[in-house]
Amino acid sequence: MGLEAALPVDGFLTTQLRHVMNWARSNSLWPMPFATACCGIELMATACSRFDLARFGAEVMRFSPRQADLLIVAGRISIKTLPVLQRIYEQMAEPKWVISMGACASTGGVFDTYAVVQGCDQFIPVDVYVPGCPPRPEQLIEGVMMIQRHIEREGMPPTTGGKRAALGLAVQPTHAVRPQPAGLTVGI
Ligand code: SF4
Repeated sequence: MGLEAALPVDGFLTTQLRHVMNWARSNSLWPMPFATACCGIELMATACSRFDLARFGAEVMRFSPRQADLLIVAGRISIKTLPVLQRIYEQMAEPKWVISMGACASTGGVFDTYAVVQGCDQFIPVDVYVPGCPPRPEQLIEGVMMIQRHIEREGMPPTTGGKRAALGLAVQPTHAVRPQPAGLTVGI
C-alpha cells in the first residue's frame, strides 16, 4: 500500500514499476488458513506434493495474520468463532484477499441453525467463493489463480466509497450435475 502512495503520477516508469509489483504480489500470496472443519483437510491436501500449491507461489501458510495476505476460510463459522475471524481479518496486512472455501463457509451449508453463521461474507468481504462439500484441491487452486489474475490486471482490491469491496467471484463447477437415477418417494 505504501509503495503505491509513494509513486509519482502515471508515467512510463511508474507503469512499469506497477507491472512488476503486481507480478510479484500475485506470485507470492501468503495464505492464512482459517480451517474449522472438514474443508480444512482438503486445504491441507492442496499444499501437499500431489497438488502442490507451491507451483503458484502460495504455499507459505502463515499462522500469524500480520504475515499473511490471503485469508482462506475453510469450514463452518459459529457465532462464537466469528469475532476471532473478524479480528484476524482486521489484523492482516493490506492489500489482502479472502477465499470462502466450501458450502459451510459460504452459506452455512447444511448447518441451518442459530449457532452457525450463514455465510462469512455477511461479516468480511469475500473475493472468491469455492463451491463444494468439500471442494477438491484443484478448485481451491483455481480460486487462488482467480485472485492472482485480478492482481496482475488491477493490482489492488476494489473499493467503493473508500471502503473495501469484495470481488465476489465464484469458481464454476467442473462437472455436469446429473439427475437422481431412481425416483424417490417419501412415505409419511
Ligand atoms: S462444506 Fe462440507 S466438507 Fe466443508 S466444512 Fe462444510 S460439511 Fe465439511
